[in-house]
Amino acid sequence: MGVVVAKFGGSSLSEATQFQKVKHIISLDNRRLFIVPSAPGKRNSKDEKVTDMLLKCHELNEKGEDIADVFNKIRERFTSIASDLKLKIDIHGVLNEIEVNIRSGASKMYCASRGEYVNGMLLADYLGYNFFDPAGSILFSDDGNFDSERTNRTVAEKLCSLENAVIPGFYGSKDNGEIQTFSRGGSDISGAIVARALCAEVYENWTDVSGFLMADPRIVENPLEIRELTYRELRELSYMGATVLHEDAIFPVNKAGISTNIRNTNYPEHPGTIIRHVMRTEEAIPKKHVITGIAGKQGFDVITIEKSMMNSEVGFGMRVLQALYEFGISFEHLPTGIDSICVVVDHKNFDLYRNSVIKRIYELVQPDSVNVSENMAIIATVGRGMVRNPGTASRLFTALSEAKINIRMIDQGSSELSILVGINDEDFTKAVKAIYNAFVK
Ligand code: ASP
Repeated sequence: MGVVVAKFGGSSLSEATQFQKVKHIISLDNRRLFIVPSAPGKRNSKDEKVTDMLLKCHELNEKGEDIADVFNKIRERFTSIASDLKLKIDIHGVLNEIEVNIRSGASKMYCASRGEYVNGMLLADYLGYNFFDPAGSILFSDDGNFDSERTNRTVAEKLCSLENAVIPGFYGSKDNGEIQTFSRGGSDISGAIVARALCAEVYENWTDVSGFLMADPRIVENPLEIRELTYRELRELSYMGATVLHEDAIFPVNKAGISTNIRNTNYPEHPGTIIRHVMRTEEAIPKKHVITGIAGKQGFDVITIEKSMMNSEVGFGMRVLQALYEFGISFEHLPTGIDSICVVVDHKNFDLYRNSVIKRIYELVQPDSVNVSENMAIIATVGRGMVRNPGTASRLFTALSEAKINIRMIDQGSSELSILVGINDEDFTKAVKAIYNAFVK
């Protein structure tokens, strides 16, 4: 029998009633043997996440202020779960030790990780599963880089001897033993790492939504759900702002050919969204809609560099990018013309060094002109079905022209997985709606 790795997010484990839902879900499928929990999240919109409170304790302690008030709130969160579920664990002992460590100056990452650690202990006790501390198995080099291959071997070796386990998400350790966390939301990554190491049949990611939607529901009213998509499509959508899953959670499972199933803890009957490495043949080309989803971001600047005969100057593009590199600015897109090159950058990063970067471009490539235009939004229309469907681009551009939206940039990768259009920031919502209506409605 194969195993299923199930990760439960913070809202799925925010209080005792949520733990009960999780236990029920686990009991419905006896392959759900390896469980990765987050720290308790918000119980309502005004509530605080335990991770945020732990970080607050660290900050207060650093400033020499007392952590008692904040730590007591954390204590209250965990002890009420333990007492409501009648757990045997010595929760006060566990929390006292953490409090002492924070007061004695434990690192920021140690503090941040303790929400997952304690929640993992509670969940293991409640399910009757083994508790497996990822410190010493999810490995980072001493300079803080995640070591994926060594981690994969170590986690596989250690977990294969266990029948079941609860493995706290979000953290691991460096070779020197220090606790190291992933970036915020990183329990998704831990779940994907465990799924890869165990060659799981599927990686289930249980959260508080029923998967991905074709567009942002704050812009499009009741957008359709995405039932299936590929990791490559997801990557395009999440780069552009669709956030349900941590971006870095894609790599371990995609590499191993394991599908991720996003599911809703509060609505477990819903099949959610399945993300596959490759589509099954019958799903290779979506029948209903040519596109899979639409996502976008605002706040880009475009630097346009013009120079006659630029195309025959070897190393021109490299030197333009070098100017950005020297100021630590990454470029997002790079559409080029015959005698011009446009570099799309994030406004916030670029604005700090704007004049210095332009000066450096003049020094490095002696252009005829450099112009910066601000306030551009980029919308990605994504779909594996677009490749073999003539007329997709024309449908997209017609929709935008009918909505009287001026297109400032067009970029289609040769993978034909997405078409990106740059438009004025102020046209953003209108454009997303127009594209959605043209392809979906
Ligand atoms: N608890 C961590 C956070 O709030 C990690 C996670 O939930 O995945 O970011």
